[in-house]
Amino acid sequence: ERQGLKSLRKLPAVTRDGTSITLMANLELPRDLDHALEHGAQGIGLLRTEFMFMNRDHLPDEDEQYAVLRTMIEGMGGRTVTARTMDLGGEKLAGWMAGRYGEPANPALGLRAIRLGLREPKLLETQLAAMLRAGAHGPLRILLPMIGSVSEVQKVREMMGQVARRLRRRGVAIADPLPPVGVMVEVPGAALSADALAYAADFFAIGTNDLTQYTLAIDRADEQVATLYDPLHPAVLRLIQFTIEAALRARITVSVCGEIAGDPRYSALLLGLGVRELSMAPLSVPAVKKRIRSLDLMEASRRARVIMDQSDSGRIATLLDDFNAIL
Ligand code: PEP
Ligand code: MG
Repeated sequence: ERQGLKSLRKLPAVTRDGTSITLMANLELPRDLDHALEHGAQGIGLLRTEFMFMNRDHLPDEDEQYAVLRTMIEGMGGRTVTARTMDLGGEKLAGWMAGRYGEPANPALGLRAIRLGLREPKLLETQLAAMLRAGAHGPLRILLPMIGSVSEVQKVREMMGQVARRLRRRGVAIADPLPPVGVMVEVPGAALSADALAYAADFFAIGTNDLTQYTLAIDRADEQVATLYDPLHPAVLRLIQFTIEAALRARITVSVCGEIAGDPRYSALLLGLGVRELSMAPLSVPAVKKRIRSLDLMEASRRARVIMDQSDSGRIATLLDDFNAIL
């Protein structure tokens, strides 16, 4: 079977009725680059840059961040790289954060991700500068984690504009035009504001890992409640659906990059809801591609409608299994 999946690498991710789906990789470090390409990823849909900031005692400066990002972009050979600004805090604590801010009372609800970047503008400006410079070497999108409101997006855009002007004045080469700015939809409040956010963002990436955690109030890292953690909960699915519909109305790209994107059991539902771009661990790409090549989109959206009428996630799981057994 491994061999079978390997041979899928060169085949396109296209449904039976001929719709192309973009399959991208979630990546953390440059050493994973070959994995992504070997498994046939068409780009990087989520680069978790926080891993450059963890397990070390001094922060990476602009040049170091630029060098890493440039390596990734050049390594992808013209395929899009989606670099997320650092998503530090929560379960991804860097040592220096505790030194500066003390132990957070509730890390998942605290000074995390874009909140930290806006509290520490130097940190975010440095990262944006590195990204803009790296973006001169190939297609780059910038993704903002844990956005809760339109004003946060506007603040980052302003900051990015200032950073760009400063670099241009110094004669430094940067991405031209400036990279698209996307929003991670992973907080229930953001999903419920998706119609407004869709006008502030150039694209959406739905982070179902955190969206599930925050919607159901279940710590994604706490084993004691792991069995309650359920991305098929109707509340989570409704937020996903609402977000996708807002994106489609505003004609912006919407991808899913949480763990469910890499599980072929969910592909029919996500495609049926209107998603055309998925980002996942490199190893998952072949199996999801195989699933997509067996799907008919009309049938998938019909099934998705039936699933969205259900109120019980056990029933939803059964319906999905049935569909996966037929096709
Ligand atoms: C998510 O929350 O679904 C996501 C993709 O981001 P991370 O897992 O890095 O929080
Ligand atoms: Mg997340």
